Amino acid sequence: MSASDLINPATEELLGTVEQTDEAGVDDAVARAKAAQLKWAALAPAERAGALRAFAAVVDGHVDELAALEVANSGHVIGNARWEAGHVRDVLQYYSATPERLSGKQIPVAGGLDVTFNEPLGVVGVIAPWNFPMTIASWGFAPALAAGNAVLLKPAEITPLTSIRLGELATEAGLPADLFQVLPGKGSVVGDRFVTHPDVRKIVFTGSTEVGTRVMAGAAAQVKRVTLELGGKSANVVFDDCDLEKAAATAPYGVFDNAGQDCCARSRILVQRSVYDRFMELLEPAVKGVVVGDPQSKDTEMGPLVSKAHWNTVASYVPDDAQVAFRGEAPSGPGYWFPPTVLTPPRTDRTVTEEIFGPVVTVLPFDDEADAIALANDTPYGLSGSIWTDNLSRALRVSRAVESGNLSVNSHSSVRYNTPFGGFKQSGLGRELGPDAPLSFTETKNVFYAIGEA
Ligand code: NAD
Repeated sequence: MSASDLINPATEELLGTVEQTDEAGVDDAVARAKAAQLKWAALAPAERAGALRAFAAVVDGHVDELAALEVANSGHVIGNARWEAGHVRDVLQYYSATPERLSGKQIPVAGGLDVTFNEPLGVVGVIAPWNFPMTIASWGFAPALAAGNAVLLKPAEITPLTSIRLGELATEAGLPADLFQVLPGKGSVVGDRFVTHPDVRKIVFTGSTEVGTRVMAGAAAQVKRVTLELGGKSANVVFDDCDLEKAAATAPYGVFDNAGQDCCARSRILVQRSVYDRFMELLEPAVKGVVVGDPQSKDTEMGPLVSKAHWNTVASYVPDDAQVAFRGEAPSGPGYWFPPTVLTPPRTDRTVTEEIFGPVVTVLPFDDEADAIALANDTPYGLSGSIWTDNLSRALRVSRAVESGNLSVNSHSSVRYNTPFGGFKQSGLGRELGPDAPLSFTETKNVFYAIGEA
């Protein structure tokens, strides 16, 4: 074991250190999880449901504590952090219904009885990113546990605190020992061992497309199941027939939420040329009005970037000669602050094609519906996006034509625990959340029982 320092991104103060799990630690955890899973799957469905409801109730009692940890470790603004902790509770509550509803099928066939069983996979490894540490972890661990699996969770190196606390709360709630273990550590050690260990039967990976591609390639060696939630470069398409005031007023929040460190960030605003100038006039005060500052203050809308290294990456997209239309405010002094920034580059610029994962948005004009769709789809990603129009037929045409897993019309909504979430193209593989997520943590077993002669 070695230890790693954690820094508060709003103050640059040392928060503490966390022990890093080594390969032997992972192997030990897998062995214990394997034994715990067999006992868990053998419990009555109602008992597993009750245990998950108890876990949800304990999380509910610790929403403020979890939120405070996320503010300190990740720089999330307090309003968002409270929502995130409450969301973890809701995800657990929602999937606590699964054990009693995973019913399989009875299929009519000749000569006997044919039934399917949704068997658990065994041990599932969840590898989480730093941008929404606890919510994204819960999208993996809650449905996986509900489907009868054990879960090993590896949080991102720099944001492990809420995950570690959730592991403790699971024990406090009475979940069986070793069923849900949190293993802080390096991706190249803990994450990689999840991929290579034969008793880890599935990987849920959320993170960059670059690392996700490697995880998928490694998993192929054992035909290991994967769910991948990867990068995004989503479009916010604004047509001239929409409520332009509302589209402009909400556009900053569609991209700058969580300081733009959001896989669903609408980081390309595409505006019909006929209303482009008016939209930019309306967008400027909206961007300048975003309240950036102390994440502990309830009025703050945007906090700092998560780390100095990430600040450097984001800053590299806004060199001195960048085509900046306007920028918002950001504090000076300690903390990894970056102001909301609006760029108007050419269509081929790397700020238009690459995921920046910070508070930087590009605005591009388009000519007509066909041009808007082509531009929206001109990316290897396909995670999210918004369409602003008051023309119902256009809303239907464009929402079917944009190659993306999660779209919203006249809003910027992406994530609800009860609807499916995931990406087209290089934004991912598989879907999380919604009613069907537990099925992706099971194997379908078909059994035919022959009926003998009377
Ligand atoms: P990252 O790919 O650097 O790391 C993600 C996780 O993978 C971390 O826990 C890391 O330790 C681990 N890891 C690193 N190397 C590994 C390896 N060789 N084997 C196994 N695991 C390894 O991503 P990040 O910087 O933490 O997160 C930002 C990215 O995540 C962005 O691209 C963002 O779009 C994406 N993201 C996607 C979604 C989604 O749902 N689609 C949600 C959030 C974030």
